[in-house]
Amino acid sequence: MSKNKSSESVKVVVRLRPLNRKEESNGPAGGIVQMDLGLGQVILRNPRATASEPQKTFTFDGVYDANSKQRDLYDESVRPLIDSVLAGFNGTIFAYGQTGTGKTYTMQGAWMDPEKRGVIPNAFDHIFTHISRSQSDRQYLVRASYLEIYREEVRDLLDPNHGTARALELRERPETGVYVQDLTSCVCKSIKEIEEVMNVGNQERAVGATDMNEHSSRSHALFLITVECSQPGPDGRKHIRVGRLNLVDLAGSERQAKTGVQGERLKEAAKINLSLSALGNVISALADGRSSHVPYRDSKLTRLLQDSLGGNAKTVMVATLGPAPQHYDETLTTLRYANRAKNIQNQPRVNEDPKDALLREFQNEIARLRAQLNHRKWRSKQKKEQVEGDGDESWERDGDEETEDEELEVEKDAEDYVKLEEQRLERETEAIRGDQFMLAEEKQRLLGEKERMMGDLRKEQEATEQLTAKYKAMESKLLVGGKNIMDHTNEQQKMLEMKQQEITEQTRREREMHQQMLAQDEETLELRETFTSLQQEVEAKTKKLKKLYAKLQCIKAEIQDVNDEHVRSRQELEQTQNELTRELKFKYLIIENFIPPEEKNKIMNRLTFDPEEDQWKFQPLVPAESKSSQMKKRPSSAVGYKRPITQYARVAIAMGALSRYRAENIMFLELDMTPPNAASLDRWTEAEPNQSSSVDSSPTKDRGVHKSRSWCQNPKSIPSSSSNVSLSACHAAAAAAQ
Ligand code: ADP
Ligand code: MG
Repeated sequence: MSKNKSSESVKVVVRLRPLNRKEESNGPAGGIVQMDLGLGQVILRNPRATASEPQKTFTFDGVYDANSKQRDLYDESVRPLIDSVLAGFNGTIFAYGQTGTGKTYTMQGAWMDPEKRGVIPNAFDHIFTHISRSQSDRQYLVRASYLEIYREEVRDLLDPNHGTARALELRERPETGVYVQDLTSCVCKSIKEIEEVMNVGNQERAVGATDMNEHSSRSHALFLITVECSQPGPDGRKHIRVGRLNLVDLAGSERQAKTGVQGERLKEAAKINLSLSALGNVISALADGRSSHVPYRDSKLTRLLQDSLGGNAKTVMVATLGPAPQHYDETLTTLRYANRAKNIQNQPRVNEDPKDALLREFQNEIARLRAQLNHRKWRSKQKKEQVEGDGDESWERDGDEETEDEELEVEKDAEDYVKLEEQRLERETEAIRGDQFMLAEEKQRLLGEKERMMGDLRKEQEATEQLTAKYKAMESKLLVGGKNIMDHTNEQQKMLEMKQQEITEQTRREREMHQQMLAQDEETLELRETFTSLQQEVEAKTKKLKKLYAKLQCIKAEIQDVNDEHVRSRQELEQTQNELTRELKFKYLIIENFIPPEEKNKIMNRLTFDPEEDQWKFQPLVPAESKSSQMKKRPSSAVGYKRPITQYARVAIAMGALSRYRAENIMFLELDMTPPNAASLDRWTEAEPNQSSSVDSSPTKDRGVHKSRSWCQNPKSIPSSSSNVSLSACHAAAAAAQ
């Protein structure tokens, strides 16, 4: 599987955003970041430091200042990586930096303006242009997926139920590494289609942004492109190379504790911060080179980027900086991370003929459909020849070998056969109808048979059409190299791009040599020095001492900085921990005091630890396999009824329409149809002493109560719904029946 086992380090480039209007209006202080494009250096000025304090200098694989163009960054730092992906390597580009420093601008940019298109749209152009320019013996399959990590949950941005769908799970396979289970993957045949995929996903993100204020800057977005390429090898067989490209726009890294959030928001913030600090820890552990444990499992982000950091991938990190003095601390932290990331060693290799290549499956399926289709057509052709009476030509042949002309001829023959057959059947049907000597029964039978044959023929034809449509749909998904090109201008364009590529490569090499020379200069200077007098030697050594002293001061300041940073982040973590402990104690309090112990035990017994997901989970109440069978089975006493029912009640129902034993829970109350009796009321007022003694003798009842009685009580009209009476009657009847 491996072609190139050599390791290479993560490429780190830094990009500076121009001052925005608000920052410009803050004062004439200007930016705190300077860049040396030739040397690839970033010089950071501390706005709070005294003039004598030395500035901090960092060296990278490339630096892009505020005037840099999107295209410069792409051609110099991204293009080689995409070329590697097209050759079958895994590649990752991720933007890292404080919120508002241009991560999304760098990755996506402004789509409408060709000058401002970011890495992702440029990569789309690059991939599809490459395919259209490649040789025609190559077949490609391009797929795209889009996901985000929000609150430590992986969500599919291409899923129409994105908002409500369950979070996806991460799985690991030895050959392909970590992957997201059940992630939607769209086959894309053109730039337009892949842009559509991106837009659909971005809209899902945008909805979140309006619902939840900080959503867009609070989620990490990963756009994944898989390019599979099949090409005949020297052995004559088709070999497949699979390149996977991850385009990552990380959430902004800024201090959550500074904003002083609490409660639920703090927990959310803690989760978000977790992935960024986990990323930092992974970078530190890898850059250090000595630690045996790399904490990839600490967050979803680091697990997904596992191959990109220290694994089988080529990686470019774009660290974005803002020039404003008030963000000095964050800018310094970003530069430190970026500086550390330079030391990470990856082991990229070409993914050749992996087991899970979808292209192979597609090719096999297409070949199968093609064989089926050919077989059908040849069968029709043969039948036609039989019908025409010249069946001596042999048709048993390998479907793959025929030329296009032959194929067309066969197709035409097949169509002719269907037409001929239809005509023949119609003729025969007519003949049967017209035959006066045939028995009616016999006629019916023959007509039925012809009808059936006609139906079969149509079904067969429909099946062939369906098969053809399926075959064509499958085939159209594969892109074939060198289709719509080979014209002269394109060739020239290609040459021009190659030359440009060479120039950028040259510049890059020059910069590297410059950096090396500078490093060597310092070492060799002292070796070459010879002194003519003692005085001269003292002077030279004093100068050197001063230089070294300045260096020492620099390093001391650096140590102090790192210590401060460490203390600060520790304090933040402690604060978060305190908050979380408080929450936990509160939950315990509720559990201990308000949840019955047996309920608690029930819940505890259902808990299991999922090592794959690294978290505790509930076992389902009903085991998954028995669920369906249990749900389907109805108790025998409920067959035909809505709910289980006793023998006694069945008998009661059989005996009469008693409301209590109906299958429905409906009571039939018979209404007293006598209208409100105004006359009795009058009577009552007239002959109060009599009435009260005859209806209700209670002295405590007031007038209102008496009035209402005319509605609800009429001893004679009460229906005999007393269950005692009717039930005993039923019972007697049932006994008699037995
Ligand atoms: P982030 O994704 O890091 O939070 P954005 O990419 O959204 O930041 O950038 C914030 C703002 O700065 C946007 O309005 C963007 O247009 C602008 N911006 C960022 N980088 C540049 C750049 N290199 N040139 C011009 N404008 C930029
Ligand atoms: Mg952003």
